[in-house]
Amino acid sequence: MLLDNHGREINYLRLAVTDRCNLRCFYCMPENGIRYVNRKDLLTFEEMHRMIRVLSKMGVSKLRITGGEPFLRKGIMDFLGGVSKLEGIEQIHITTNGTFTQEFIPQLEDMGVKSINLSLDSLDKQRFFEITRRDEFDQVMETYRALLDSSIRVKINAVVMEGRNIEDIYSMIELTRTDDVAVRFIEEMPFNGTEGQGNATFWPMKKILNYIKDKYEVEKLNDPPFSTSMNYKVPGFTGSFGLIAAYTRTFCGTCNRVRVTPQGELKTCLYGSGVMSLRDLMRSTDSDEELKDGFLKAIGSRAKDGFEAEKQRDPVSESMATIGG
Ligand code: SAM
Repeated sequence: MLLDNHGREINYLRLAVTDRCNLRCFYCMPENGIRYVNRKDLLTFEEMHRMIRVLSKMGVSKLRITGGEPFLRKGIMDFLGGVSKLEGIEQIHITTNGTFTQEFIPQLEDMGVKSINLSLDSLDKQRFFEITRRDEFDQVMETYRALLDSSIRVKINAVVMEGRNIEDIYSMIELTRTDDVAVRFIEEMPFNGTEGQGNATFWPMKKILNYIKDKYEVEKLNDPPFSTSMNYKVPGFTGSFGLIAAYTRTFCGTCNRVRVTPQGELKTCLYGSGVMSLRDLMRSTDSDEELKDGFLKAIGSRAKDGFEAEKQRDPVSESMATIGG
């Protein structure tokens, strides 16, 4: 078992395979986008495979593929096919905006992908457009329906924001009436690609829950181990909903994850800066032992929580597309 310096088990890797995205969600990046990493500076798929293989031998069994938009990276399906066969990787999950995902669902099912988190902040076409600045609502809904019909578990990630999609909280709850979906309401974080603009549209988790309780009776569900979401359902409804305290950070005590950015920076906390360049290390040595030592050192000096990690760095100014969420 891989343990950090606070005794927390690390068994989950979140890997951002690209920083490129075709949407421009205002809470994630500026309208004119971000400066993308040069191709040569990105981890290659071979490097990613090697890193996952080494981590899987150290105790990491769960993998999330994210980005940027993962399906924008050419070669992603071959890469996924490869890592799905790695001994030790028991679960693969993907976070996607759903714009290019639909055609790959049968192949993803064959690979045994366990769940897909679909980012969908509004069930209203116009509001979706205002948030994402792209006209992709119909395609994303098609992907959603196709996922419901597949063997892959589907979750919806919805960032809740004042003046943007509060109306959608109730529409999302209504979706759980008939659909076997887990809607996860996420607190907005300051990773919007600009420094100092904060999250003025912020709604804390408790406020979201109280808002739901104003209209619906809710039942608390048991949360799985290491869950970042507090999970609930409306009695009699098919699906469920969860609340993720991504900004108020109430779940750091059980954090089981590390992140790797598209250029191979290892992050031991979402709110921290990168702690080492796995890319540089992998390009300097063929020794998996050295890679393993690098991981152990990084995991042995993790911040206690997201507040401590944030204090140790320059102010947040990056886009979530460079981290993966
Ligand atoms: N392109 C994929 C997608 O849209 O799902 C994966 C990458 S995206 C950065 C991953 C998740 O981060 C999405 O669910 C998105 O809503 C969330 N996210 C991005 N910026 C955020 C922010 N400032 N606060 C909270 N969540 C954010």
